[in-house]
Amino acid sequence: IAKSKILDADGIRRAITRIAHEIVEKNKGTDGVVLIGIRRRGVPLAERIRQRIEEFEGVKLPLGILDITLYRDDLSRIDVQPVVHQTEVPFPIEGKTVVLVDDVLFTGRTARAALDATMDLGRAEKIQLAVLVDRGHRELPIRADYVGKNLPTSSREIVSVCIQEIDEAEEVLLLER
Ligand code: 5GP
Ligand code: MG
Repeated sequence: IAKSKILDADGIRRAITRIAHEIVEKNKGTDGVVLIGIRRRGVPLAERIRQRIEEFEGVKLPLGILDITLYRDDLSRIDVQPVVHQTEVPFPIEGKTVVLVDDVLFTGRTARAALDATMDLGRAEKIQLAVLVDRGHRELPIRADYVGKNLPTSSREIVSVCIQEIDEAEEVLLLER
C-alpha cells in the first residue's frame, strides 16, 4: 500500500484550532451552540474543539454523541444503509445551533443520518457540520460548514485518520489500495 502523509500532529492541531475559531466567528459567539460528535473519531475531535473554545472564550459547550454505522452491502455496492445505534445527547437542542462533528466526509450518507437523528431530538435553530477531512465523492446534496482539510481522492484511495485517544497515533494518511 502506497501512502502519503496529509496532516501530522501539528497539522491536526492547527486544523482543529481553526475550526474552533470559525465556529465562534460564524455563530457570533458561543450562545446556544452545542456540539455533537459522531462515533467514533468525531467524538475526540468534538472534545478538542470544545476544549479550544473553552480556552479562548471561557465557555464549555454542551457535548453529545451519536453512534452511526454504515452497513455497506459489498455485493451491490449501492445499498448503503446508515444505522443510528445510540444517541447520548443529555441536553435539549430546541432552538440551539447544533454543530455535528465527524472525522471524514465522503458520500454524505452518515451526515444525512446524523441530521435525521438530530431532528428527531427536537427543533434546533440551525444544524452545521464540521469534519477534519472532506475527501469528496458526495452522493447526496450535503456539504460541511467547517473543513480541516479538503482532500480530493480517487475512489481507490482511503483516508486513514489516527487520533491519539483512539489510535495511539496522531496523523492523517492517504492510502492507495
Ligand atoms: P459517508 O457516510 O460520508 O460516506 O462516510 C462518512 C463516514 O464514513 C465517516 O463517519 C467516516 O468515519 C467514514 N469514512 C468514509 N470514508 C472514509 C475514509 O476514507 N477514511 C476514514 N477514516 N473514514 C471514512
Ligand atoms: Mg465514522
